Amino acid sequence: MKYPKRLYAGVAALALAASGAVVVVRGRHGGDAPPAGDAPAAVAVTPTVAQETARKKAVDVLLAARSTAVLKGDLKGFLAAVDPKQPALVARQTLLFTNLRKFGLSSLKYYTADAFRPIPGLVDKFGAATFSTRVMMRYQLSGLDPQPVQTDLGYSFVPRSGGWVLVDDSAADEYLSADGHHQPWDFSEVVVVRRGSVAVVVDKKEASIGTKVAQVASKAVKSVQKHWKRPWNGAVLVVAMPQNSVMSTLWTSGSGEGWTIAAKAVTLFEGEQMGQPIGRPIGSRIVVNPALRKKLDKDLLVHEMTHVATATLGLKAPIWAVEGLAEYVRCRSIEDDPHWSVDPYRKRVRSQYLPKLKTLPDRTTFDTNADQAYGTSWWVVEYLANKLGEKKLATLYTDLAQHGQSVLQKDTGQTPTQLATATKTFKG
Ligand SMILES: [Zn+2]
Repeated sequence: MKYPKRLYAGVAALALAASGAVVVVRGRHGGDAPPAGDAPAAVAVTPTVAQETARKKAVDVLLAARSTAVLKGDLKGFLAAVDPKQPALVARQTLLFTNLRKFGLSSLKYYTADAFRPIPGLVDKFGAATFSTRVMMRYQLSGLDPQPVQTDLGYSFVPRSGGWVLVDDSAADEYLSADGHHQPWDFSEVVVVRRGSVAVVVDKKEASIGTKVAQVASKAVKSVQKHWKRPWNGAVLVVAMPQNSVMSTLWTSGSGEGWTIAAKAVTLFEGEQMGQPIGRPIGSRIVVNPALRKKLDKDLLVHEMTHVATATLGLKAPIWAVEGLAEYVRCRSIEDDPHWSVDPYRKRVRSQYLPKLKTLPDRTTFDTNADQAYGTSWWVVEYLANKLGEKKLATLYTDLAQHGQSVLQKDTGQTPTQLATATKTFKG
C-alpha cells in the first residue's frame, strides 16, 4: 500500500456530526446566546419594540443591497454602508467582496437573525445605540450546491446621518455557530480553481497547490464514480487553505492522544440553523488539514469523496458501512493502477484484525482502535461487494443510509452477527 500510516477522517467527519451535525459551540454562552451578565450594562439603551422593528427593517434593506452588490460585482455598493473612518474594516470588507466574487455565487442573501445584547467593548467605542446582530448568509455556489446553504456572521451597526453604518464585523464571532465567520472567504485572499465538477479553494499565494489539488481531486471523482454505482455528479468544493481555523475543524480525533486527521468531509444541510442540521443533507465540502495540504494525494481524496458521494442519501448508515465503503472504494481505486497494491494492508487485516473481530465495528471501536476499525470495516464491505457485486452493494448502502442497520437482514439474509462471522472467514 502506498501510505501504510495514513489515517482517515471518517470518524471525525461523523463525530463532527455527519459533519456539522453536532455543533461545537464557541464561547461560554452557547451558540445563540448573547453576551450577557458580564456586560457593564449601564451604557446600553434598550430600544422600544417599534424601534427594534424599524432598526431590523433598515438593516435588512442595507444587507439586501450588499447581497445585490456582490452578485453584480459592485464593490462601491458593497462598501456603501461600511464605516469609512475605519481603514482596517474597509480593507477586510473589500477582501471579503473580492473573495466572494471568485466563488461564482448563483444566489446570495444576507438578512438579520437574532439580535445580540450590547457587546460591552463596542458600546464603549461606538455608543449606546450600537446594534449587534447575527446575520445569516444564505448562498449557493454555482455548479457546486444543488440548492442554497447557509452560515452566519456577527455584525454591529450604528445609526449615522439618518442611516445605519457597519462598524464592526468580528466582535460577535464567539456567539456564532462553529463555522460562522470561518468560511474560506473570511481569511486571506483566495484563488478558486475549477476543474470539471470540482472546485478547490486555496490561498492566492499558494495558487499552485490549487492546481495540483484540482488535478488530484478530479481524478478522485472519477475513481469514486467507477466503484460507486449510483449517479453522482462529482460536484464538490475542496478547501485547502493554510489557516487552521477555516471551517473551524479540529484535526485530531480518537481517545488518548488521538490521531491526526488528514481531511474531512463536512455535510451541509437544507435548513441548517446555527450549526444545527435541519432538513436533509444536501451537499458537502472537503476540508483538508492545513498541515497536510501540500502532500495531499488521490487515495485520501477518494476516501473523502466517497463520503461526499453518499452524504445526501441519508444519515442512518452504521459507521462500519460509512467507513468501510470509503475504504473499499479507496483500495479498489489504488489497485485500478496495476503498479500499486494494497496487499500489505490486506495482510494486516487478515492476520491482526480479523482474529479479533467479534461484532461489526461501532463508534467505540473507531474511538479506541481506529486502525483496526477502519481495516475491519473495509473487509466487511469487501465481503459484501464480493457477495453482492458493486451495484447491489450501492443499493444496500442506500437502504442502510435511509433506514439504518435494521434493514441488513432483509437485504443480505444476514444478521449483524452473521455478517461479522462471515467477514471473519472471508479470504478476499
Ligand atoms: Zn471516512
